[in-house]
Amino acid sequence: MKLLRHGLAGSEKPGLQLPDGTRIDASGCGYDWNEAFFADPTNLDRVRDWAAGPGASAPVIAPGTRLGSAICRPSKIICIGLNFSDHARETGATPPAEPIVFFKATSALVGPDDDLVIPRGSEKTDWEVELGVVIGRKASYVSEADALDHVAGYVLHNDYSERAFQLERGGQWVKGKSCDTFAPVGPFLATPDEIADVNNLRMWLKVNGQTMQDGNTSNLIFNIPTLISYLSQFMTLLPGDLISTGTPAGVGLGMKPPIFLKPGDRVALGIDGLGEQRQVATACP
Ligand code: ZN
Repeated sequence: MKLLRHGLAGSEKPGLQLPDGTRIDASGCGYDWNEAFFADPTNLDRVRDWAAGPGASAPVIAPGTRLGSAICRPSKIICIGLNFSDHARETGATPPAEPIVFFKATSALVGPDDDLVIPRGSEKTDWEVELGVVIGRKASYVSEADALDHVAGYVLHNDYSERAFQLERGGQWVKGKSCDTFAPVGPFLATPDEIADVNNLRMWLKVNGQTMQDGNTSNLIFNIPTLISYLSQFMTLLPGDLISTGTPAGVGLGMKPPIFLKPGDRVALGIDGLGEQRQVATACP
């Protein structure tokens, strides 16, 4: 199943993307894609039953309708740094011995095609195509063998980053990762059955039509079961939480000379089976 959210920012409603690409309003199923929903894996079966029954006559979402983040605001957005060796190299870092973990403010969450707002004072706003993992059942001290039982699905995420805020202003990376609009998520969450092999998905990102990133999840240093098990030793992962698993080479910081986004730039990105996003960079009002 592919879960999405549609409508104006702040008043999104749940929806589904059907196998033929049609998007339908799923308000009638009585759920939204939030912590309470993901906590009970049988809710997905109920939505499936609804879609096959009463949902067959649910309103179709008109093409061009705004999509919100595919999931409601979670308790946490946890990001993994330098999880591709080619990306670690381009930033001059040594590939890490243990996962590098940082947070992104949940207020950064936006829809997949919403404008990117370049924050005030920013000169180094950068892109990062990433595979996002959404937690299903609560995860605390889970083993790698059991980790995938705690996954509700996968999403496309652009982990926007302000490199000066992140790296030149002291303290933690969170400052360069949390600006408003820095977390476009969607267009939809795909449940695991929709993805043949999550460890072999092509991921790409273009700026103004030029390919900047062209990677594959097969090159993750720490794979998804490892990350879930690892994180769950330090914190409880709640249903609906988002783990962003890291970006391959080709970010603006790694270019020689570096390239950063300016108002009017167009960013497009995608991951096999998880759809595409398109953002236009705008100046902060
Ligand atoms: Zn990242």
